[in-house]
Amino acid sequence: MRTRTRKRVVVAGGGYAGLTTARRLVRAGCDVTVVNPNGYMTYQPLLPELAAGTVQASHVVVPLRTALGSARILTGSLTGVDTAARVAVCRAADGTEHLLEYDDLVLALGSVARTFPIPGLADHAVGFRTVEEAVHLGNRVLSCLELAASTPDPAARARALTFVFVGGGYAGVEALAELEDMVRRTIHRYDGLAMNDSRWVLVEAAPRILGQLPERLTSYAADRLQRRGIEIRTGVALDSLTQGRAFLADGTEIATDTVVWTAGVVAHPLLRMLGLPCDQAGRVLTDDHLRVTDHVWAVGDCASVPDVATGDRCAPTAQHAVRQAARLSRNLLGSLQPYRHKDAGAVASLGLHKGVAELYGVPVRGWLAWMVHRLYHGSRLPCSRRRLLITLGWLLGSRGRDPVAVPAIESPRTPLRDAIAAQQGAA
Ligand SMILES: Cc1cc2nc3c(=O)[nH]c(=O)nc-3n(C[C@H](O)[C@H](O)[C@H](O)COP(=O)(O)OP(=O)(O)OC[C@H]3O[C@@H](n4cnc5c(N)ncnc54)[C@H](O)[C@@H]3O)c2cc1C
Repeated sequence: MRTRTRKRVVVAGGGYAGLTTARRLVRAGCDVTVVNPNGYMTYQPLLPELAAGTVQASHVVVPLRTALGSARILTGSLTGVDTAARVAVCRAADGTEHLLEYDDLVLALGSVARTFPIPGLADHAVGFRTVEEAVHLGNRVLSCLELAASTPDPAARARALTFVFVGGGYAGVEALAELEDMVRRTIHRYDGLAMNDSRWVLVEAAPRILGQLPERLTSYAADRLQRRGIEIRTGVALDSLTQGRAFLADGTEIATDTVVWTAGVVAHPLLRMLGLPCDQAGRVLTDDHLRVTDHVWAVGDCASVPDVATGDRCAPTAQHAVRQAARLSRNLLGSLQPYRHKDAGAVASLGLHKGVAELYGVPVRGWLAWMVHRLYHGSRLPCSRRRLLITLGWLLGSRGRDPVAVPAIESPRTPLRDAIAAQQGAA
């Protein structure tokens, strides 16, 4: 009888943390299965630049099958775990159930957008966590410019040119700043439109934006954005949305066709259903070795990991995700040590050639911070070919996208349906 010697590891989630963990385990000779709803990993920190067209969609995603060589990729979702029998229950894309036996299970399910019961949110806002949402938003902003340039109705024009972002963390600030910059560089090509016609509003319920950064850098960022005419409304929440209208809790009404929801993240809801210990935010609790229970580990946004540096729990950031993944793969292979992390700081882009950062306690602003942002994220992509393509793209086309909106990409059947309808009408 043949004895099995390779460790069987199931990695649930093929995002930043899952891919990094799986890659290391494959290299170490483990028998790895990655379960992920898509066949690719998305590098989320570059989504604002994707929306603004300074990077391409194919460059911010990494195909799991290419990156993970011998690993098995199951396109589907984890739906349950039997920790006693060491079986992960998964549903494949076609609906079939798969029972995956494991020696070790890694939970790397990430997070989802944090929402509140706000009337109209589901129908009138768009999120900003996926490639699809980023591409949609870039198209949408350019479509709004086209609409504004062609409508004779001043109210419709003002609505089309008003962009509201709810949530002033990294995602909201960077997405707004990149898109405002894109519009600043392209609006002169639209008949009769000028930058002053557009309105950009950032709504943040907390007293300040970019709460992760020290206050002096937050003030700098807010000042730079306000100098560009961006309205920053802190200490107020979104109350409700209707078609073409956003209502804030202080009674302000904003006429707008575009509301972007970037109000933070919560742990993946499945975690609470798995019967594993979770913190108040729904993240699965690990010890400082990233272990949840026997043969179950967790990493990245979905994990509540002790931060030995602060005595708190680690924040859901890409920096932690990739470093935890490196530690976890070593722990899983037997070299057991606690996760320790020296905080390198934080960096945010405020649009082309503009940024703000703190590196090992040193504040950095302006062009230098923007360059740090690019170098850092350009180098963090887990694929050397993409790192090269992104860098070349930045060097060759750093002025951003041509003003072409292709919103029809979201409804590809329409041209054929229109052709059928027209020909049936003519017959
Ligand atoms: C717009 C934006 C900008 C950001 N900018 C920064 C930044 O500048 N700096 C920074 O440090 N961080 C940033 N972040 C946060 C950073 O991207 C995350 O912390 C990081 O991606 C976490 O990695 P993860 O692997 O835990 O989660 P993810 O990368 O989200 O991966 C989770 C994976 O699990 C999959 N999954 C979900 N459900 C299931 C299931 N049931 N079964 C199997 N798989 C499942 C998902 O599809 C996904 O592929 C940003 C995030 C966003 C959205």
